[in-house]
Amino acid sequence: MAAFRTTKHILIHALEHGYAVGAFNITNLESIQAAIMAAKTEQAPIILQTSEKAIGYAGLGQMVAMAREETKRTKVPVALHLDHGSGFAAAKACIGAGYSSVMIDASSLPFPDNVALTRRVSAYAHTKGISTEAELGRLVGVEDKVKVSERDAFMADPAKCREFVRRTRCDALAPAIGNVHGLYYGTPKLDFDRLREIRQKVTVPLVLHGASDLPASDIRKCVRDGIQKINIDTDIRIAFTEAVHSFFRRFPRVSHTRGSYDMRTILNLGREAMTATIRKKMRMFGASGKAKSATK
Ligand SMILES: [Zn+2]
Repeated sequence: MAAFRTTKHILIHALEHGYAVGAFNITNLESIQAAIMAAKTEQAPIILQTSEKAIGYAGLGQMVAMAREETKRTKVPVALHLDHGSGFAAAKACIGAGYSSVMIDASSLPFPDNVALTRRVSAYAHTKGISTEAELGRLVGVEDKVKVSERDAFMADPAKCREFVRRTRCDALAPAIGNVHGLYYGTPKLDFDRLREIRQKVTVPLVLHGASDLPASDIRKCVRDGIQKINIDTDIRIAFTEAVHSFFRRFPRVSHTRGSYDMRTILNLGREAMTATIRKKMRMFGASGKAKSATK
């Protein structure tokens, strides 16, 4: 049961040492193996995270069991986190299944309702020794059950961030600062002044969602200006898909060549590509080599 570290501990270490921990979305055995392999090779603390859709795909028990088995084989700090939890029931189910932390995303609700739901989930999670993440402001783009049109999107207000953290007692905050889920249309425009202001107003670790497809220079600025957790999903999917595409260009149809229909060959190409992408992100976030001191 004790395979996973607390997310709070991992993120506080990042806050104190000026780097960000990568939170990588996992969906199946291969993505879990890729993430743990990357963490071991880079000696970087890591957060594995699942959306509710990923849990729906693989099964909650299966996801925890696979992550736990892979985590047993490493001394690198690993946490398991629910990404974009939609309500109290989802958060409670993951806490019961052995997750290290849960996000409650009530950012589409009016401010008082977001406060109320986040506070309820935090209060419950804290009785179980589990930390929480919450979101303020709204992101453009499409994610699991979260759809926000361009027009509706708005950024997090720094003063509201302080009030929100104080009232909800969430352990990490994901403020909208111009980031989007998925691929960016045109040049990303993050509001770094806003990020610095939020960093001054709250003491909890800050989370950057929608960090796939951002240029490395923007990522480094975010880490410098106070982000401690960076979520990556889309870039992992792209790495997998491109690697599998390359296989099917080589073998456009099943033939007498045995390798042309061995799913292990196909999935392993995807796994290796995901590992390489995750390692690159860890180096970009400044997390490589931090595992040992984060373990203390
Ligand atoms: Zn997100």
